[in-house]
Amino acid sequence: MSDCLFCKIVEGSIPSTKVFEDEHVLAFMDIMPLTKGHTLLIPKKHHENIYDMSSEEAAQIFSVVPKIAESLKTTFQSVGLNILNNNGAPAGQSVFHFHIHLIPRYDQTDGFKAIWHTKEKQYTSEMFAEYAEQIRMNLNK
Ligand code: 5GP
Ligand code: ZN
Repeated sequence: MSDCLFCKIVEGSIPSTKVFEDEHVLAFMDIMPLTKGHTLLIPKKHHENIYDMSSEEAAQIFSVVPKIAESLKTTFQSVGLNILNNNGAPAGQSVFHFHIHLIPRYDQTDGFKAIWHTKEKQYTSEMFAEYAEQIRMNLNK
């Protein structure tokens, strides 16, 4: 896509600091890292988000995650890692070319608060059962 920032990074018309590349994927340093070592992993082919990808394409990119995760851990002696993927503006996606964030973690005050577990019980077990049934029904549509 001609007006896509990450496609331009793949083409090389916008520079990036690459950490890994193969036929299908590219990993490079995030320009505004949330923690030291924050890396982005993208498919070279333009996909807006996960809804735009086949299971094979998704498997291909996720298969590279453990390799980069291990290298980040070795490089930075990080003690944790958040693997994050935002799909759609309400989920926080700002660049509309699929990407996986790999965010090394050092401690709970390293600047990134990833998970917000609710303390309130908003859903009943009947609601969970109903939701699960609907999700199961829609799995193969
Ligand atoms: P999103 O909010 O879409 O999940 O994440 C987009 C990410 O892309 C952000 O973490 C942002 O810092 C990063 N980003 C935006 N523009 C550039 C750029 O030109 N180069 C690099 N390397 N990262 C970028
Ligand atoms: Zn793109």
